[in-house]
Amino acid sequence: MRAAVLEKPGRIQMKELPDPECPPGGLLVRVTHAGFCASDLKMWRVGHKDLRPPRVLGHELSGFVVESGTDLWPKEPAERVALWPGIPCCSCPACLRRQPHLCSNIQVMGFHRDGGFGELVAVPENTLSVGGVRRLPERLTSAVATLGEPLACCLNAQSKIGVGPGDRVLVFGAGVLGRLHERLARAKGATRVVLVDTDPKRADDPKSAIVADPNSEGWMDEVRNRLGGGADAVIPACSDPVALEWGFSLLDRGGRIAFFSGLGSRGSFHLPEHDRIHYQEWLVAGVYGCSPMHFHEALTLLAEGSIDVSDLLTHSVSLKEMELGFQLMEEKRSLKVILTHGGSHDTDLGD
Ligand SMILES: [Zn+2]
Ligand SMILES: [Zn+2]
Repeated sequence: MRAAVLEKPGRIQMKELPDPECPPGGLLVRVTHAGFCASDLKMWRVGHKDLRPPRVLGHELSGFVVESGTDLWPKEPAERVALWPGIPCCSCPACLRRQPHLCSNIQVMGFHRDGGFGELVAVPENTLSVGGVRRLPERLTSAVATLGEPLACCLNAQSKIGVGPGDRVLVFGAGVLGRLHERLARAKGATRVVLVDTDPKRADDPKSAIVADPNSEGWMDEVRNRLGGGADAVIPACSDPVALEWGFSLLDRGGRIAFFSGLGSRGSFHLPEHDRIHYQEWLVAGVYGCSPMHFHEALTLLAEGSIDVSDLLTHSVSLKEMELGFQLMEEKRSLKVILTHGGSHDTDLGD
C-alpha cells in the first residue's frame, strides 16, 4: 500500500509499504478519508508524547471493510465505516468500568500504531469489541464522518462539565474544535455562546459568531455583555496558557471549566488559589480524547444533521500533498484539511 510515513518530526515521505494483514478477530479497512488534526501538525513539527516514529499518522478516519477476521462482523462487500482509533487492553480497571479511552495500556492508531494516512489500516479485535467500528448510514458521507472523532472529543468535554440548556458558554480558539464546541453547545441548549480567537483573520470570518478579539481594549467587557455576565462553562480549545487565565477571570460563580488541550511546550499554568475555587464552587475537569460511546453519539449527531459542519471541511489533499496539508493548517488558511485516498484531489473544497 501507499502511505505517508513520518520518519521523524519534520520529515514525512510517501512510501510503498507491505499491506497490513487482517488481525485475527479484527478487520482490515481500506481508508478513503482521514482528517488532519492539530496533534498531527504537532507531531510533524515537534513530535508528541505518544508518537512512536516512524509512523503512519491519521486518527480521524473512515473507509470500508475489505476483510473480516471474525464471525461477529459478517463479510458484506464494501461496508462503509468510521473508526474510533483506540486499541485498549480490555482488562485494566478503566477498561472494566467501560472507559477504554482511559485505559492505562492504550495504544492509538496514528500514534503508537499505523493510522489513516496509509491506504489500509488493521483494526485489532479489542477496538472492534469495545464498539470502535461504526457502520455509516447512507446519509452520512465518509468525508464528514472524519469529524466524528473530533466531535466526540468535544462531547466528552461538554458532558464532563455538564453543558446544557440555559448555559452561557465561552470557548477559546476558533479552529475546527472551537467551532465544533460552539455548535455542540448550541445543540445542547446553551443560550449564549461566545468564541474568542486572537487571530484577526479568524475574528473577521462572517460565517461564524466569533467576537471579542482579545487584542482589543475592553474585550472582556464585551464578552461579559454578550454572555450576560460571567460564563457558566469555559472551554479553552487551544494550547495557550493565557486562555486558561482569561477563562478563570470570566468564569461565573458555580462555573465549570474543561482542560481540553494539552499545553506541551507552550508553557505552564497554575491553578487559582484554593479558596477562590472553594468559595466560587468552581469545577475543574481534565478531558482527553473520547470513548467509543462518545464517538457513536457524535456520528449520530452528524448523521441527523443536528450539527452543521458543511463549512468546516475546507480542503482535501492527496498522499503526495501531505506537506501542503500541514502548511494550510499551520498558516491558518484552512479549517479542516482531509486526506482523500485515491479520489480526485480538489485542494480547495470550497463550499
Ligand atoms: Zn485529533
Ligand atoms: Zn485497559
